[in-house]
Amino acid sequence: MCMECLKELGHPSFEPIVTDYYEEAFAYIECSLGHKSAILLQSHKFEILLESAANALIEGYTLEAAASLSSAYERVFEFAINVFCKKSEVSKVSIKETFKQVSKQSERQIGAFLFLHLLVFGKHYTLNKKIPELRNKIIHQGYIPTPDEVIIFGELIYQEIVAITNLISSELSSELEQVVKETVQVRNEKIPKKMPRATTTGTMFFSLTNTDRKETFQEALSGYTESREKLFGSVPYLFSFSKEVALYTKLKSNV
Ligand SMILES: [Zn+2]
Repeated sequence: MCMECLKELGHPSFEPIVTDYYEEAFAYIECSLGHKSAILLQSHKFEILLESAANALIEGYTLEAAASLSSAYERVFEFAINVFCKKSEVSKVSIKETFKQVSKQSERQIGAFLFLHLLVFGKHYTLNKKIPELRNKIIHQGYIPTPDEVIIFGELIYQEIVAITNLISSELSSELEQVVKETVQVRNEKIPKKMPRATTTGTMFFSLTNTDRKETFQEALSGYTESREKLFGSVPYLFSFSKEVALYTKLKSNV
């Protein structure tokens, strides 16, 4: 919904605005009153990719779902590396320069994750060995998986992501907060200065802000399917309701 309407009217307009977003994780919207604003997501890349995988799977695109899952798996290591580096208080510039040298090879990033985990927690992290095997078959051999095979692959990746993010949320909460803040700041800086903006927690399939995270990929998928149906199902009702609200607001201001 338009936050400018909320400011101007003192109550929500209830007009639903559906918009797409891409790499930069923000979108420009315009409501029927002509307010132009930007809406930006707080979600990290791996959360966005997980949701993209869920959307593809629900719509029957199994290869695309598997590819998004594979990318989410890679991006969670980048996220964890950033949080671990905050613990050591290294500068943003140094992190950026170092990451640049490993950015094109995910295996290097996984290596960095394993050793930083060892340094931060003083113990080793054991990766699930089944993931690379399945990932190679799907991603590098162009195999088109069935929905059940995607669910098996999704479950392995989801469990790895849950394990890593639970560890970070419980042990490195202030470092996590800093990384979230910086992610939003980078997106914020790309929006023209005078443009009003609002931040949303973002993804529904998996969200770091949600303390009640689903334990399995299957559970997360059914929860998300239900939320997605409710959300899209509510759009026509919200449209009608927003028209009534606009009419009532107009009548009230004429009295
Ligand atoms: Zn508006």
